[in-house]
Amino acid sequence: MTEILRVENLRKSYSGFLAVGGVSFSVAKGELKALIGPNGAGKSTCFNMLMGQLKPTAGKVFLDGEDITGRKPRDIWRKGVGRTFQITGTYQSMTVVENVQMALMSHHRRIFSLGPRAWKIYRDEAMSLLETVAMKNQADRPCSILAYGDLKRLELAIALCHKPRLLLMDEPTAGMAPSARIELMQLTADIVRDQGVSVLFTEHDMDVVFAHSHHIMVLNRGELIADGNAAQVRNDPRVQEVYLGG
Ligand code: ADP
Ligand code: MG
Repeated sequence: MTEILRVENLRKSYSGFLAVGGVSFSVAKGELKALIGPNGAGKSTCFNMLMGQLKPTAGKVFLDGEDITGRKPRDIWRKGVGRTFQITGTYQSMTVVENVQMALMSHHRRIFSLGPRAWKIYRDEAMSLLETVAMKNQADRPCSILAYGDLKRLELAIALCHKPRLLLMDEPTAGMAPSARIELMQLTADIVRDQGVSVLFTEHDMDVVFAHSHHIMVLNRGELIADGNAAQVRNDPRVQEVYLGG
């Protein structure tokens, strides 16, 4: 399988404290891969280094074979690495479809050049993205009245506006009810399958992880202790000891 992302010996220390202790892994094209681990394991630190938000103390990040280590977040984003945030960043007073249209305009850098006409141009594309995340029937509702789970799906549609090759989702289902978690991951798995995008996500809920991920990595105290399919990870004694509590 061709890899889209390769991480070599990535390390981050905060004045002597090793938050991420030299991890190496890769994500294949069209793969839905999970990074799990207890609180404080270093998952967000890893993501922030991949996105350029945080400078690694050591190590390398390659996107499609190109060294992107230490590049600015905007450069990395332009190269096709998208991300969803734990805090939702939608415009509350606008409708669902308007939020997607805004993101499409921003992607095509046309907000100022087109003015009101742009709204018409991007409506169809926005509606089709809303269909992808099963929110077409909520297109004309203001974001301020959306349920939390719907906001997360909208956020996913907004991330897709930028046509990412790789999407990083840090705890996408945080704060959601168990059934909504499974639903969002099912949707993400469909998007991976249909759009050929690769997704790397972090998650707490084991059921979600084992049900939908192609591969699972386990991080503990900044160290990668497992990297394999659900069966391999579930049966790994180190994983059982530190994560599954058995
Ligand atoms: P996770 O996302 O897996 O819960 P984090 O990556 O947020 O873990 O944190 C990993 C470790 O690094 C934690 O022990 C956390 O306290 C520490 N840490 C994170 N950010 C900083 C920082 N800016 N300064 C010092 N320590 C930090
Ligand atoms: Mg985190």
